[in-house]
Amino acid sequence: MLSVAEALKIVLAQVKPLPAMMTPLEPVTLGMVLAEDVASDLDMPPFDKAMMDGFALRTADLREGQAKLTIVEEVAAGQTPTVAVQQGQATRIMTGAPMPSGADAVVMIERCEVTNDQVRVNDPRIALRSNVLAKGREMRAGEIVLRAGARLRPQEFGLLATVGRTAAQVHPAPRVAILSTGDELVDASVKPGPGQIRNGNGPMLMAQVCRARGVPRMLGIAKDEPTHLRTLMAEGLQADILILSGGVSAGKFDLVPGALAELGVQTLFHKVAMKPGKPVLFGVKAGPHPQPLSQEERGDRLVFALPGNPVASLVCFELFVRPAIRAMMALPADGNWVRATMVSDHAFRTDRPTYHPARLQWTDAGWTVEAAAWFGSPDLRGAQPANAFMLLPEGDHLHRAGQTMDVLRVEDFN
Ligand code: AMP
Ligand code: MG
Repeated sequence: MLSVAEALKIVLAQVKPLPAMMTPLEPVTLGMVLAEDVASDLDMPPFDKAMMDGFALRTADLREGQAKLTIVEEVAAGQTPTVAVQQGQATRIMTGAPMPSGADAVVMIERCEVTNDQVRVNDPRIALRSNVLAKGREMRAGEIVLRAGARLRPQEFGLLATVGRTAAQVHPAPRVAILSTGDELVDASVKPGPGQIRNGNGPMLMAQVCRARGVPRMLGIAKDEPTHLRTLMAEGLQADILILSGGVSAGKFDLVPGALAELGVQTLFHKVAMKPGKPVLFGVKAGPHPQPLSQEERGDRLVFALPGNPVASLVCFELFVRPAIRAMMALPADGNWVRATMVSDHAFRTDRPTYHPARLQWTDAGWTVEAAAWFGSPDLRGAQPANAFMLLPEGDHLHRAGQTMDVLRVEDFN
């Protein structure tokens, strides 16, 4: 059976970043990857700028930092000086205001004593250009200030706005369709009848897609009936990624693999040596996209069929789907693995590498981890307090307190 690492390699070999699109710089763009070099349209600062509230003066007028000068003007940020500072003169100036011509330094207000139209300054440390930010010091018009590949963090939003950009070429978020399958499933709003359970995986997968920065679309619940299943799957294949939940094991009514084949989806793996989640299937539907994001897009569509047991679905998404979403957005696809110290003993026996729900915490002693009380793939309730998955090797092991383990972080917070 394929290892998780081999399976992930197969997934990532199928993914390339979605073609860039001109996108408004709005909150949803946060975290996306820039797909163009961006040049400044102006010098920053656009003028010699005062960096302190105080007096703009000529350093030649100072004797050991002292002088008594005549105030000729007052300039606030947003205003433009109208008179030049001449010998024996000073202009009162606010932070962010343009320097008047003739002046070559600013003395901060705390070092000045004003009486009527006179100011006495005393600052022995003042030198030429003190407290003045030279025009173009930060950037020059025409200079590249951001390169393609930059991740749009708050800093990049600030910089892009500074150079006049309200939109930019970015790799867009993939559209991800979600389809739950199973005759036993009813919507969360319904009280289940005999033999029925609620569709917990649908909303859970939708939230995982959002957390991974994809754009989810819920297709609802498909019956374990070939025609209905195919119809809804075909609709899902209009997205960039189709996630199926359930119906992928070896039961008589596990119709997903067959239905995918009939729709021209090529299965690249089915079953991975892992727990929970062994039956997971990955396939691609090659050829032009029926609803391209942009003109040049010809990306294949990816299909992930996840096992129906909730924790298997949860784990398989983090291990295989999330990296694919990120790679489509040109983000680094590698999982967020850390080494963490066990805080208590944990005995565990398994025949396949197991991704065990666990609680990861940052402490004075570094990362620590504790296994959640969890009985296996159907136990979403037991997995709920976890914020990570601890990788437990196959075999019969007693993992001791103080031992370090590999842990997959799936949340940004403790
Ligand atoms: P399956 O993968 O279809 O064989 O389903 C495995 C187990 O997961 C069964 O007990 C299903 O009832 C359960 N299951 C399947 N789909 C869902 C779902 N969408 N939400 C919650 N449980 C599910
Ligand atoms: Mg089923």
